[in-house]
Amino acid sequence: MNLLHDLYNILLPRKCVVCQNTLEPKEQYLCAACSVQLPRYPIQSIEDNEPLRKVWNFAPIQYGATLFYYRHQSDFHNIIIKIKYYGGAELGIKIGEWAAIETSHLQLAEKTDVIVPVPSDRKRERKRGYNQAELIAIGMGKIMHRPVKNLLTRKGTGTSQTKLGQTARRENTTGKYEAHIPLSWKGKSILLVDDVLTTGATIGNCAQALLAADPEAKISFFSLAFNT
Ligand SMILES: [Zn+2]
Repeated sequence: MNLLHDLYNILLPRKCVVCQNTLEPKEQYLCAACSVQLPRYPIQSIEDNEPLRKVWNFAPIQYGATLFYYRHQSDFHNIIIKIKYYGGAELGIKIGEWAAIETSHLQLAEKTDVIVPVPSDRKRERKRGYNQAELIAIGMGKIMHRPVKNLLTRKGTGTSQTKLGQTARRENTTGKYEAHIPLSWKGKSILLVDDVLTTGATIGNCAQALLAADPEAKISFFSLAFNT
């Protein structure tokens, strides 16, 4: 591109967010090989799609979108694992930027006033030092030019939860969230952001909490991956 850009690449080589190989100058976020293999979720409409229907079981949501299918043992499954355990904050933000660019044709930004990450389990977040959904949200906010606000908090997890399996624990989220929406953010279009959507319960319960705090809010979601 230019000398400064080349120099930057030599000093800080840009890496593929999936396989971590060094990117060619023309590649952005993903190398060509990973780009071809991306198990993209084919969104026809953000007003009606499979993940959105899952969330409708829990809350009235306006729009919903996801980027790729979450499949175990694929490199794309590793994206989530890497953000969670290895990549650090920088990788999570980059993945958020990438997700926003990849889905820009869906025009979610035009339907969003504020981006709100799904809060993580506090104990796990303390261990890692960050919330992966928030990192994705920050990256998306940079590209979409929308503010990111932590309007949701997760209430303390009860002891009964420790007896449940990991999936059950994650899905057993009814009443686990509460929202605090300042007056200036009432009546706005909120884009909820999470890393993986499975049953839709987490996004749905977050939406319920937001709507309890502001019945005039219009809620949509973006989930990086969709676990069918
Ligand atoms: Zn790659």
